[in-house]
Amino acid sequence: MSSDRQTPVSLRTLGRVRVLQALSDAAGMSRPELVQRTGLARATVGSVVADLLAAGLLAEDDAVDGDRPSRIGRPPRTLALAAHAAYAFGVDIGHDRVHTQLCDLHGEPVWDQTTALAVDEAAPEVLALVSDHVDTALPATGIGRAKVLGIGIGIATPVDHVTGTLHAAGIMPGWVGVRPADELRARTGLAARVVNDANAAVLGERRYGAAQRRNDAIYLRLSAGIGTGVVCDGRLLLGSGGLAGEVGHVTVAPDGLVCRCGNRGCLETVASPDAVAALLSTGRQRPVTVDDLLDLVRAGDRGAVRVVEDAGVAVGRAMAGMVMALNPGLIVVGGVLAAAGEPLFSALRTTIARNAMNSHTEELQIVPSTLGDNAGVRGAAALVLADAPERLAVLSAG
Ligand SMILES: [Zn+2]
Repeated sequence: MSSDRQTPVSLRTLGRVRVLQALSDAAGMSRPELVQRTGLARATVGSVVADLLAAGLLAEDDAVDGDRPSRIGRPPRTLALAAHAAYAFGVDIGHDRVHTQLCDLHGEPVWDQTTALAVDEAAPEVLALVSDHVDTALPATGIGRAKVLGIGIGIATPVDHVTGTLHAAGIMPGWVGVRPADELRARTGLAARVVNDANAAVLGERRYGAAQRRNDAIYLRLSAGIGTGVVCDGRLLLGSGGLAGEVGHVTVAPDGLVCRCGNRGCLETVASPDAVAALLSTGRQRPVTVDDLLDLVRAGDRGAVRVVEDAGVAVGRAMAGMVMALNPGLIVVGGVLAAAGEPLFSALRTTIARNAMNSHTEELQIVPSTLGDNAGVRGAAALVLADAPERLAVLSAG
């Protein structure tokens, strides 16, 4: 956290940060591997590890490592972060529900709750609900508040990353001017950070899902809101105001429908799940819901497959621009429409290949999200857990 960075830190604390950071990036590591990874002297690693074990921040197991059999004596013991040394809340605030998880230091959920709520007009109610989730989760799990590093929030509207203010006009009208992180900090006493939900999702997929070990990946959410979260050179790409990746409001049909943002013919007006399902309503002379659309696609209905493919083409054209600009190696597709499966993915792949250079697309993979509805909430917790090495090093030094 920034407040920690302003405090002078001792070399001893820096050694702890390096060891904790190395272990948070890997499933487990031996002492010799830690020496190699951190660049610290062997004696320093030994002393830092002993301190961290004594503080309960590390766990030690006999290595079961087939890659490096030790020829002499016992195999080196493997060190890992102690899963229950600290926790973080992840909160995913969508348009119609609030999803909260309490995750351990490994990012595994230990408590999970989703509450349906009409979110867009109801900022005070949602903030009170998140605070209730926190107050319910801690006694239910027996975890003390002092062990919680903070709350990470992903929300379905653009977020100014400097002030934490939401750009919610036309998207979540009840949230204009609200600073959810400040509000939740005041209500819960916990540190809090907020990002756009697609940014939370790309962090989740990168840490635990389809984009692991990828430094250049895009998460594409195809739901009522269409947006992307971008990791570029290993870092979350935010842009000057934190608003990068809003591909849903790129114009794809200049004479098309007026969008909720006030422009005309945005990608969302032709490829959001409701817009795609509505195309089937006219021919069938009855409303076709998004669930109906997905059932029809699975049943191989020609019209349903066609409208999903057309949506894939529209999204693919817009994404081709991002592919040329950012050169990702992977696009992870999540959101409601991702469930349409192969007709959508096939149209996306073909269209991106046709509208971007071969050099940019021949190695590009386009895959479904592996975390599904949990990408945002787990990524929101990961946002807080990313600071765990510095926070825990300072706490354990105190
Ligand atoms: Zn728009």
